[in-house]
Amino acid sequence: MMREEMLKMLRGNIGDRVVEAMGRVPRELFVPESIRYMAYEDHPLPIGEGQTISAPHMVAIMCDVLDLQEGMKVLDVGTGSGYHAAVMADLVGPKGHVYSIERVPELVVYARRNLREVGIENVTVVEGDGSGGLPDHAPYDRINVAATAPKVPEPLKDQLGVGGKLVIPVGSCYQELVLVIRTEEGFELEHHGGVVFVPLIGDHGFKV
Ligand code: SAM
Repeated sequence: MMREEMLKMLRGNIGDRVVEAMGRVPRELFVPESIRYMAYEDHPLPIGEGQTISAPHMVAIMCDVLDLQEGMKVLDVGTGSGYHAAVMADLVGPKGHVYSIERVPELVVYARRNLREVGIENVTVVEGDGSGGLPDHAPYDRINVAATAPKVPEPLKDQLGVGGKLVIPVGSCYQELVLVIRTEEGFELEHHGGVVFVPLIGDHGFKV
C-alpha cells in the first residue's frame, strides 16, 4: 500500500485536516528500513525494543477525536517512532508545540533522529515515565496517550487545561479508547470503541 492508498482509505471517515496532515508526513521514514515497503499498510509495525508504530487508522482516529488546532500545546505519551507526534506537530503548526515523552531510551534516540531527518522542529522528545505526565510544561490543550492504562491517570487529568482534551486507551484484556474533556465543572467522558495497545508502564500505569 502506498501513501495515496492510505489517504483514500481515511477520506470520508476522518476529518480533512487530519487526512491532509497524514498526507504530508512520510510514514516510511518512521519505520525500520527493512520494512519500509509495508509502511502504509493499515496495521501496527515493529520499531524495535518490543514496541510498535500504531496503525494509520488508529493515529487518524486519535488525532480526529482530539480536534487539534493551530497553536495548541500538546503532550504525547509514548513517542515510539515519533510518527504520531509528527502528525500532531503538523496539525498544531509552527505556533504550536508537541512535548513527547518515551520511557525506552533507545526509542528516544530513534524518534529524535526520525523527526530531525523529516525536518520537524516543533516536537521536543523527553525521556521518562509519561504515566505521570510532564508537569514542567503543563497545562496542555491536548494530551495523547499511545499505550493502554489500567485507568485514566489522575496526573494527566490534572495537567489538562480547562477546555482541554485527553485521549487514552483504557483496560488490559478488553481496551477501550476514552476521550476525557475538561470543563469548568469537572471532566466529561466519551467512549470511542475497542482498541489494542501495548501497556503504559509506570507509576500511574501498569507496574513491571
Ligand atoms: N506513538 C508511537 C509512534 O508513533 O510510533 C507508537 C507508540 S507505541 C504503540 C507505545 C509506546 O509507549 C512505546 O514506545 C512504549 O515504550 C511507550 N511507553 C509505554 N509506557 C510508557 C510510559 N510510562 N511513558 C512513556 N512511554 C511509554
